Amino acid sequence: MHLFPKSIRDDVPSFRRADIFSSLFRFSGRYLLCRGCLGPLGAGAEAGLCKTCWSGLLPLQEPRCPRCALLHDADSGCPDPVAWTFGDALWNYRGGRPPLGTLLLPGIKAGELGWRSALLVRVARASLPSFAAESELVTAVPTALHRRWLRGFDLAEDVANHVAKRLSLPFLRTLRKDWKVRRQVGQTESARRRSPRKAIFLRQDTAIRNRIVLLVDDVWTTGTTLLRCAQALQEGGASEVRVLTLFRAI
Ligand SMILES: [Zn+2]
Ligand SMILES: [Zn+2]
Repeated sequence: MHLFPKSIRDDVPSFRRADIFSSLFRFSGRYLLCRGCLGPLGAGAEAGLCKTCWSGLLPLQEPRCPRCALLHDADSGCPDPVAWTFGDALWNYRGGRPPLGTLLLPGIKAGELGWRSALLVRVARASLPSFAAESELVTAVPTALHRRWLRGFDLAEDVANHVAKRLSLPFLRTLRKDWKVRRQVGQTESARRRSPRKAIFLRQDTAIRNRIVLLVDDVWTTGTTLLRCAQALQEGGASEVRVLTLFRAI
């Protein structure tokens, strides 16, 4: 049952869930409780998260595979296909309690700008793998245009820019994600349904030929998107693709 007749309800601005959620923890602009563990904020808190929650940015376990960043036997292949020579992530997506990556990334994508800047500060301080420094240019996994427009930023690209600056390498937008434009003539109905609706394209005039490209993204789960990006870069003539993400889901 609704409290107001429909004409009035339509005038009420729609609140985002994140706003209502964060107002429970905030009083006069100050956070009262940690938004991760609901404990007291204490010293070292940042953007509404306590020091202990921030310490959930944990590195991945050693010794991990240099290509897929997972723990597996040297003889057995990587569990998911990889099309790059090196792949690593700064932090474990499920590190900490509550798992910090799974809290931060959806929050940032819903507009938590404080979390975004606190995370980028930590990217600037994190130790980067040596293969990143030995690359020749940095690029990012693309976000669909409407998403980037809705959010007003692109996290993967922000991270890629930070990494490029730290390593004194050029950052280049090389890829775009877009609706598949070409009609797939001759495909059966079921095959058409199975094929992805969004595809990764190489932008025109990208100077990647014979260069070592460092591909950056926010989170690496199965690596399907990374794979499609790496393949597009290789088709565009990149001599080598390497992968670095903020988080690795293991
Ligand atoms: Zn906490
Ligand atoms: Zn592997």
